[in-house]
Parts: sequence; structure tokens; C-alpha cells
Amino acid sequence: MKHDLDDVLAEVADVARPRAAEGRVTSYIEAHANADPNSFGLAVIDMDGGEYVTGEVDEPFAIQSISKVFSLVLAMQTADEAEGVDKELWSRVGVEPSGDPFNSLVQLEHEEGRPRNPMINAGALIVDDVLLNHREEPPQAVIGLLSELAGDQVHLDEIVRDQTAEEAARNRAIANLMASFGNLSHDVEQVLDAYVHQCAAAMTPRQLARAVRFLGNDGVDPASGRQVLRAEQARRVAALMITCGTYDSAGQFAFDVGFPCKSGVSGAIVGVVRHRFGVCVWSPPLEESGNSLAGHVALHELAERLDLWSI
Ligand code: GLN
Repeated sequence: MKHDLDDVLAEVADVARPRAAEGRVTSYIEAHANADPNSFGLAVIDMDGGEYVTGEVDEPFAIQSISKVFSLVLAMQTADEAEGVDKELWSRVGVEPSGDPFNSLVQLEHEEGRPRNPMINAGALIVDDVLLNHREEPPQAVIGLLSELAGDQVHLDEIVRDQTAEEAARNRAIANLMASFGNLSHDVEQVLDAYVHQCAAAMTPRQLARAVRFLGNDGVDPASGRQVLRAEQARRVAALMITCGTYDSAGQFAFDVGFPCKSGVSGAIVGVVRHRFGVCVWSPPLEESGNSLAGHVALHELAERLDLWSI
């Protein structure tokens, strides 16, 4: 099995890696704009801890929007511990795909400040606002959860945090618009600060593939045996990933890949195949919706070759 999977990963990398030339590295955050467009890493980790990797899988980068999965996980844990949080959360953010870019303002105006889902920026800001209502230091808690699941201490990329904060005009507008509709309980700057902090968690593809596995294991972290989420909650996170995790390309991802994925603007995509694998692919150049272009190709090739799907 190890041998076969290693061969499959090498084939997938051969097909996907050159496609990066068709994408464009993000320009609005300097550290990501300067990323090597030729970087490529793919990690596939099974529930028994078998790690299958190719390329630059031990290279850290700020995970950006992939952190939205883990702040949501924390909010769901909080909802299990404190009465009323579940209602608070899901009355303030929806569970429908947006069909719009991750940082769009348009829909929010029409829909009175209630974001479509927690995988877009507006929704992640609401999740952070809910966390600020119920937990001490939410961003540190997100990094703590990531460290636990990755099996390694996760650090903050302070340069990316500062650059993301400097480029936050649009996120600030989103937060202010939601505040104008009464859908923000904390100061805009405090919510932005929490969000920008979690986006700057620096992780490698290998660590991300480990960290996401519990969602495909009925909420139990295979490494520690800890029930991180109830199985039903893990299913819900996976549902939001497949319908909303790759923004306005979510339909195309479901069509091509067929398992839940979440992307970030630094060029990583995590995926989860129920009862089989945690996956992470990293290649900085993006397609138009802000998902890694070669990453999309790699996940498609992987899904086809291994007959992976969880729909
Ligand atoms: N921090 C980035 C932003 O808010 C994250 C976006 C992303 O990764 N898609 O713009």
C-alpha cells in the first residue's frame, strides 16, 4: 500500500505541478505575493498515521482562510459547553453557499448583515465575534487546537499577521456593515484582530493534513483518540466545506474532487476523505476564485486515481 500510494502521489504531482504556471500568486499580502510560485507539496495521511507525501510538505506558510474551519470547530465545541451558543451562532450566520467571492460585500447588504456561511470572510468574522463572547483569547485557542491536532507546536507568522492587518480595509468594511445591522457584539477592530491573528498561523502541508483528519473520523482525532467534535458536528463542518469551502468554485470542486475541501489565499487546500485520509496540497498560484490552481488539479487527479469521494 505504501509503495502504491507513493507512486500515485508522484504521478499526481507530475500532472499538477506544471499547471501552477496558469495561476497567479495573490498580490495583496506581500509575504504571499513573494512566495515561490514553483513550490508544490502534497500530503495524504491515513487514519492509522501512515503519511504519504511528495514535494515541499514541511515548508510552513500562513494558513489564512483554512483557519476558518478550526475557528468554527472551536465555536461548535463552545456551543456544546454553554447554553444558547448554538442558537446564537446559527442565527447570526447561515449555511448556504454564497456563489460570490470570499470577501464580497454585495450579498451582505441585501441580506441585512447575516453572512451566507462561516467559510467566507464575513461569516468567519461572526464566528470570531461569537468566540469573543464566550472564550478567553479565541485566536490563541485556535492556534492551540491546531497545535494539538497537528502534533506540533504551531507558531504565528507575525509578518503575515501585520501585513494582513494592513490590508484589512475590505474586511473592516464587511465588519462595519455587519455592525450597522446589529450583527456584531464587539468592537470592529477587536474582531478583525482575532481574525487576522488566526489567519497568520504558520503550518506545513503535512501538519495541515494531520490536523484535518478528525473531521473524516467521526470527530475523533486519530492520533490521540480525543473526541474533538461529536460525529454529527464533524459531518456539519464537512458539509460546509464541500458546499462553501472553495467559495464560488465550490460546485466545480464537488464536481471534480468530490470530498470536502477548504482553501486559503496562500495556496493551500485541505481535504478530508471520510474514514480514509486527511489531505493537504500547497501550490501558491491561484485561480480566479482564490483557490490554488495546481492544488485543484492535484486533488482531482488524486480523487480519480484512488476513487475518493465522500458525497
Ligand atoms: N486573511 C485573508 C483575507 O481576509 C484570508 C482570505 C483567504 O485566505 N481566502 O482576505
